[in-house]
Amino acid sequence: MSERIVVAAALVDGGRLLAARRSAPADLAGRWELPGGKVEAGESPEAALVRELHEELGVAAEPGERVPGRWPLRAPFVLHVWTARLLPGSAAPEPLEDHDALRWLAPDRIWDVPWLDQDVPAVERVIAHLGLG
Ligand code: C5P
Repeated sequence: MSERIVVAAALVDGGRLLAARRSAPADLAGRWELPGGKVEAGESPEAALVRELHEELGVAAEPGERVPGRWPLRAPFVLHVWTARLLPGSAAPEPLEDHDALRWLAPDRIWDVPWLDQDVPAVERVIAHLGLG
């Protein structure tokens, strides 16, 4: 089976990283993730990231660069992470779909939330890549 990419955003603003708490499905609810979702057929990862951040958070964001690494999810999905920033004039993020809380985490607070297991190594890589913390 061919691999399907899930893109997630390391959305950083003022040195803080955005974390989103999942509200569904039941087995993931209450755990925190880098917001994102599945890349659709014919869509670039960057376009999927912009679309997902708009749908899920109501923001206008711009992708930066890919954070090196790939983290397996439930097959056939594999998580890729991109840096992102809010465009000037973007609305502030709100939990519109899939999430019921958001937090901007300062570097010394990043491990205060219970991340999804599969997001933990990705967040570690984000911290190293961005020099947070
Ligand atoms: O948000 P969406 O349902 O499109 O995400 C697709 C899959 O990727 C879900 O199973 C979700 O749990 C997973 N995912 C993840 N970590 C993220 C974003 C999504 O494990 N940061």
